[in-house]
Amino acid sequence: MSTRGPRLVLLGKQGAGKGTQATRLADHYKVAHLSTGDLFRDAANFGHELGLEAKSFMDRGELVPDETVVGLVAEHLGIDDRAARGFVLDGFPRTRRQAEELRRILDGRPLDLAIDLDVPTEIVLRRIAGRRVFAQCGALYHVENPPKENWTCDACGGRVVQRDDDTEEAVMRRLELYEVETLPVIQFYRRAATLAHVDGSEETDDVFKQLVETVEAQFDPTKP
Ligand code: AMP
Repeated sequence: MSTRGPRLVLLGKQGAGKGTQATRLADHYKVAHLSTGDLFRDAANFGHELGLEAKSFMDRGELVPDETVVGLVAEHLGIDDRAARGFVLDGFPRTRRQAEELRRILDGRPLDLAIDLDVPTEIVLRRIAGRRVFAQCGALYHVENPPKENWTCDACGGRVVQRDDDTEEAVMRRLELYEVETLPVIQFYRRAATLAHVDGSEETDDVFKQLVETVEAQFDPTKP
């Protein structure tokens, strides 16, 4: 009997911990982790046209146009047959149209679960205000949990900076867009009965444990 990894979508506000938890889930299930935000940031760092175009939206806290994001996701899910073998999508879909397009891309292979990582707004605001990231290796820190040496990244030795879109203005705009554009995505998955909620305000390890339990309760690896 052939088995596969889960096909998961992780939803949640900025600062809910999607990136950290999606990385851990993908490692745990040995599936691809696709973060559209990371893909755009990498493309911008390499000076690719797609990345530079995306950056002009990202720095203002606006959403990158659906066509651009959907094209990128379709391309990456096509690599190594990820759409069939399993994946964790982090930061996609963020609009109802993207959710519909994802269903089309998956072409009859249903998502196993969309998980809403729920964190109250006052907590995400505190997390984002202190968030620091090293642009090249992507390691995340918080001002209350800094690298060992003088704001030099423990992992790659480089300098740690604040994300360009973690300014107060961009953060408020992203939260506003979350309400308007991404809450309908949660509705979409609720209607399709593939939605689960996990409280993301606990300690990282506890949240991860909850996430794995939630996936295990729903996911059948023998189903194609
Ligand atoms: P993230 O790293 O997930 O917080 O994403 C950072 C930024 O990338 C967002 O604020 C958007 O500008 C852009 N972005 C990432 N994913 C999407 C998406 N699915 N749709 C539109 N824009 C996106």
